[in-house]
Amino acid sequence: MNGGYVDTHCHLTAKRFEQDAVEVIRRSLAGGVRMVAVSTDVADSYVSLLLAEECPGVRAGVGVHPTMAGGLDEVGWSEIEYLAQKERVVLIGETGLDYYWKDCPPDVQKKWFAKHIELALALGKPLSVHARESVGDALAMLEPHFAEGLRAIWHCFTAGKKEIRGALDFAVRHGVFLGIGGLVTFEDQKPLRECVADIPDELLVLETDAPYLAPRPKKADRNEPAGVIRVAEVLGELRGVDAETVRGVTTRNCDALLGAWR
Ligand SMILES: [Zn+2]
Repeated sequence: MNGGYVDTHCHLTAKRFEQDAVEVIRRSLAGGVRMVAVSTDVADSYVSLLLAEECPGVRAGVGVHPTMAGGLDEVGWSEIEYLAQKERVVLIGETGLDYYWKDCPPDVQKKWFAKHIELALALGKPLSVHARESVGDALAMLEPHFAEGLRAIWHCFTAGKKEIRGALDFAVRHGVFLGIGGLVTFEDQKPLRECVADIPDELLVLETDAPYLAPRPKKADRNEPAGVIRVAEVLGELRGVDAETVRGVTTRNCDALLGAWR
């Protein structure tokens, strides 16, 4: 079950996969794409783990998305702590801070993000970090913990024209992996498209955020883990290499970060 591509961040439990999640998984695996099903709340975390337990080629991320953090309590958190210890849980997340949607007050988000960071450190598993209009705060919360061994994927890496170089420097300084997905195929993502050539090989991973962010040109409204193949093509063009090189580099990084995939 090694080799191929790895989608480090997809939402197989999303409503849009309700009817055919298993077909989607089988199609992706047949196309040579393994995947990490991340979660957005406690119930979701159970389902992601079930998928990971039953499907070869699927691993889980458990956690509570910052926009959902208002619904989390101590009981729910103890469930996340329990699920996170399972062998097929390879990521803690998706977690982070989101100031774009006003679903949950920043203080509450920060409280639970800190808990996710603690859990990742305690278990030695990487975080899948979401930072939307919150990059300064999110990085400030992460920074002190890299010296303690924290590892993280900055999911859906992007930033504005003025910030993106600083964001890349931060990632390089602390060894943060950068998750590159469908956004890199969007013509209007100029700062990201100009910056991806400078991401060091050893920090590059692929993702889809499926069912969201279908790569351009759009074949369907709904994205699937197999969408990483198109991402690799475009990323390769921007980095001056072929998709096969991108595949080799990103899959090697995933195997090192997420462990052997038996
Ligand atoms: Zn996501």
